[in-house]
Amino acid sequence: MSGVGTELDQVVEELRGADKFLLTTHENPDGDALGSLLGMHGVLTQIGKDALMYLSPDEFPLPHEYRDMENRDIVGAPPADMDERVAVFLDCGNIDRMPVDFLQREGIHILNIDHHHDNTRFGTANLVDPRASCTAEIVWRLAKELGAELTTEIARALYVGLITDTGRFMYENTTAEAHMMAAELIEAGVQPHVLYSRIYESLPLERITLLSRALSTIRRFDDSTVTMLHLTAEDFEQTGAVENDSEGIIDHARAVEGTAVAVLVRELTGERAGKRKVSLRATDGRVDVSEIARGFGGGGHRQAAGATTELDIDALTEAIRERVRIQLAA
Ligand code: AMP
Ligand code: MN
Ligand code: MN
Repeated sequence: MSGVGTELDQVVEELRGADKFLLTTHENPDGDALGSLLGMHGVLTQIGKDALMYLSPDEFPLPHEYRDMENRDIVGAPPADMDERVAVFLDCGNIDRMPVDFLQREGIHILNIDHHHDNTRFGTANLVDPRASCTAEIVWRLAKELGAELTTEIARALYVGLITDTGRFMYENTTAEAHMMAAELIEAGVQPHVLYSRIYESLPLERITLLSRALSTIRRFDDSTVTMLHLTAEDFEQTGAVENDSEGIIDHARAVEGTAVAVLVRELTGERAGKRKVSLRATDGRVDVSEIARGFGGGGHRQAAGATTELDIDALTEAIRERVRIQLAA
């Protein structure tokens, strides 16, 4: 993507020039959100900056697999000196994915660091590189530009972003660069088996029970090009699973032979009851699922996207099938 070079220079300049930062990411943070957040925090702190991280108190406790990433520099309210801080958004494709007033105020100075191709470029300065496997990869590059040393702690955080966003080096965004980054992070002290086991093993039993319920709902449409799973609010209640326990379930639908698009619809609970989260995955280049997600007010990558909608399951199913049919026919 032309322009990334100058964008990089501009953001490096801004990071060097300012002293106080507030870092944040998207709501319901995933591995890349938390990894790039903590990694960037480590880098800025190391070069002598005053950096705080913001996450809504609703995000705690963090999902089981990221439980060791809670950090005392994460604040849950705007700091008193927010006016003096540069806001740094990481892995956040549009500003509405961090729905808090103090970060959406007019006049706030924002550095927007991300890898979503549909990033709305809401920052004062934007460093958006859709070729980066994960936002953590951009942070890794920034660390070098800023002359920061890759400590084991920073490397661990970035490694979490790398393995989760590439699906353990399996998705199309797995580039040579991603593997070179992995090599450097391992040289910096990451022990892959330790992080893999923390993230993908020692799972709460509720997660497996929820998975079994989801798998029992499997439906296939349109010559099996669309494979769909569904979780209701009762599934969460009765299994004792939490929202994030559905993470990864969609990969089972994606793995079924013939699937062009995998869909997981789950009903939301609590304050968001009545709404549904839809996750979409494409298995190859034929369908751009981010376009479908944008149709429901969401977004994401060509091969992995999501949205939150008030449509019911039948309307949602019809709309998705229609969009997939159109794209496959094109
Ligand atoms: P998920 O299905 O939640 O795992 O999300 C897959 C991809 O879609 C990630 O890259 C997210 O950043 C993106 N995504 C998920 N939900 C939304 C949303 N409501 N708005 C924009 N992008 C989203
Ligand atoms: Mn993310
Ligand atoms: Mn990401």
